[in-house]
Amino acid sequence: MLHEDTLSDSVLRPTFITVDLPALSKNFHAIKEYAGDSKVMFILKANAYGHGLIKIAKHLEALGGYYFGVAYLEEGIMLREAGIKTAILVLGGIIGNQIPLFLEHDLTITASSIEKLNQIEAAAESKGITAKAHLKIDTGMERIGMHYYTAHALLKASTQCKHTIIEGVFTHFANADEVDDSYTKMQVERFDKVLSFYESENVKRPMVHASNSGGMLQSVAPTYDMIRVGLLLYGVYPGAHFTELIMVEPVMSWKTHVVFFKVIEKDHPVSYGSTWQSNKQTRIITLPVGYGDGYMRAMSNKAKVIVRGVKYAQVGHICMDQMMIDIGDGTAYNGDEVILIGKQGDDEEVTIEDLAEWANTIPYEILTNINTRVPRVYIEDNDSSVLS
Ligand SMILES: *Cc1c(COP(=O)(O)O)cnc(C)c1O
Repeated sequence: MLHEDTLSDSVLRPTFITVDLPALSKNFHAIKEYAGDSKVMFILKANAYGHGLIKIAKHLEALGGYYFGVAYLEEGIMLREAGIKTAILVLGGIIGNQIPLFLEHDLTITASSIEKLNQIEAAAESKGITAKAHLKIDTGMERIGMHYYTAHALLKASTQCKHTIIEGVFTHFANADEVDDSYTKMQVERFDKVLSFYESENVKRPMVHASNSGGMLQSVAPTYDMIRVGLLLYGVYPGAHFTELIMVEPVMSWKTHVVFFKVIEKDHPVSYGSTWQSNKQTRIITLPVGYGDGYMRAMSNKAKVIVRGVKYAQVGHICMDQMMIDIGDGTAYNGDEVILIGKQGDDEEVTIEDLAEWANTIPYEILTNINTRVPRVYIEDNDSSVLS
């Protein structure tokens, strides 16, 4: 039997993500409280870390989210086309011909060099629209932004802008999820030196921001005027050493259902490449989920899932759309619920961090790899589930 509490009639696939919006609300409030007087930018890039861009944005907007951050122009446009009114900063690098679209959709632009700032000025002037920009300073990431040792020129140039409001200035930490916070400390010192421009030149300092989830929890990084929080919002810690500092809970769980049961004889290998076989007769179940859904093949013969409250090993290579589980002497029936991420009852749990360990990657990649072909089911604040 399918479990009616988790599988609504409208879900065609027996494999789906559940997004717990009440948990998201709790995390939102916990982060705001931690930020104190500083504002919070909520990061929604990569389909809101796999949780569903529009749905998450609407929920956060209703809660009063101050600022949203995305990586790409297209993500910002999708939010505007869905009716999102909250300010949106596009964090990534830009190409000059994209600027008119930023202006048309009221998206805040990252100005990562003097040349880009000049392009923004020119586009704003020719369109007769005032642009909004945040200056990006590279203090040790070597990604985008003006190096801290040449940033003075960018800040100086920004004071000459006539068609661009310089709303903010920011940097990004390269090692904020580490126990060792010395690199962050160095970046903070470099950044503070850049910011001293405003005092020495007697120019009003725009909004300053630096920390992501890790930076917010590493005590050496000031919160400045705003923090930019992604991972923690979704209830995942950037490092195990941070769990004492703030209470957040996972927003995502991932479930599937048994589609096949069989008994296999000893020495009969399972799946492509025949990488696993049992030395005794055993029971194997097949699940309708695979690496084509984002259940990464690197987890083959390492992952565990929960069936009827018991954790079992995934065996053989994970296929594109299916995978096998050895339940030994255990019991399972066709249609039984299987937990890939999350809890079943109060005892057993599989976390996003577990999957990251099995796949030899980070939780960010686990979340953002879950394919859009996996339906997302939203648990609303009033507890009814809605398919999106
Ligand atoms: C993704 C990103 C963040 C959010 O990082 P988390 O570690 O998920 O909190 C913040 N700032 C920038 C520039 C980013 O690209």
